[in-house]
Amino acid sequence: MTIIIDGKACANKILENIKLKTSKLEKKPGLSVILVGEDPASTVYVNNKEKKAIESGFNSYIYRLPHNTLKEELLELINKLNNDDNTDGILLQLPLPGHLNAYDFLDKIDPKKDVDGFHPVNSGKLFLNEKPYAVSCTPKGIIKLLDEYKIKIEGANVVIAGRSNIVGKPLAAMFLNRNATITIAHSKTKNLSEITKNADILISATGRPNIITKDMVKKDAVVIDVGIIRGQDGKLRGDVDFNSVKDIAGFITPVPGGVGPMTIAMLMENTLELHILKISRNKSC
Ligand code: NAP
Repeated sequence: MTIIIDGKACANKILENIKLKTSKLEKKPGLSVILVGEDPASTVYVNNKEKKAIESGFNSYIYRLPHNTLKEELLELINKLNNDDNTDGILLQLPLPGHLNAYDFLDKIDPKKDVDGFHPVNSGKLFLNEKPYAVSCTPKGIIKLLDEYKIKIEGANVVIAGRSNIVGKPLAAMFLNRNATITIAHSKTKNLSEITKNADILISATGRPNIITKDMVKKDAVVIDVGIIRGQDGKLRGDVDFNSVKDIAGFITPVPGGVGPMTIAMLMENTLELHILKISRNKSC
C-alpha cells in the first residue's frame, strides 16, 4: 500500500515545537526578509513567511523595496541588518529583478545570519560535511520528512532530477553525508527514465509538470516531488504525475501539502537555531 507523505502534518508538529521553545526564551528571535519588486509569487511567499514567523513567536521584519532598487541600496540594507542585534536571520527573497544578480548579495549576508544557507561559507561547510550555521530549507525539509517516515537513507540509490544551487546540489551533499549513492540529472541528461528506474529514492526538482511518470519509477520507490507549478486553472501541481505514480511508489509526497510546508517550517527552525547560536556565542564572550 502506498503511503502518502503528509508534509503539512509534519511541518505543523515542528512549528508547534518551535513555538514552545520560543516561548521559553528571554528575547524573541528576529527574522528579516527583503523583498525587491512586486513579483506576485514572491509576494505570496513573503506574506506566508511573515505569518509563520509571527505564529512561531518571532519578531518579523519585512523590507519591501521598489523594483528599481540600486545595487548599492540593497547592499546598504544587508550591511545594516548584519549589524542589527534584533535580526537573527536575513532572507533575500529570490528571484531579484533582472538588473540585480543574486550572487552579488548572497555572499554579503553574514554567514551566521544566513537563514537560507546560501552563503558560500555555509554551502562549503555542507559539502565538506562540517556543520553549517544554517542548511538550505528545502533540502533540510526533505531529509526531515524521510527521517520522520523512517525511510533508510544510508546505502540507498538516490536520483535527483534538478541541479539548482537551492535544491538539487545541497540536497545531493546532504544525501552523500548520510552515505547514500547519488545520481544528479539535469536538462542535458540522456535517457532520464533509465536512470530514475534505478532509484530507491527519487527526488524531482525541475519545475516541469508531469515529467515523472509511472513507467520511470521502480516499484515501492520513495518519490519526493519538489516542483511547484501553477497551472492555467490556477491550481498548483508538481513534477510528478501523482495519480499514476502513486500506484507504484512505496511513499509519495503530494503537491501541495508535501515538501512546501516543510520548507517554511525549516526557515523557522533555522531562525531559532541561529538565535540560540548567537546567545551561546554572547555567553562565551
Ligand atoms: P531551477 O533553478 O529552474 O532548476 C531546475 C533544474 O531542473 C535545473 O537543474 C534543470 O537543468 C533541471 N531540469 C529542467 N528540465 C529538466 C529535464 N527535462 N530533465 C531533467 N532535469 C531538468 O529550479 P529550482 O529553483 O531548483 O526549483 C525547481 C522546482 O522546485 C520549481 O518548480 C520550484 O518552484 C520548486 N521549488 C519548490 C520548493 C518547495 O518548497 N516545495 C522550494 C524551491 C523550489 P539545467 O541545470 O540543465 O538547466
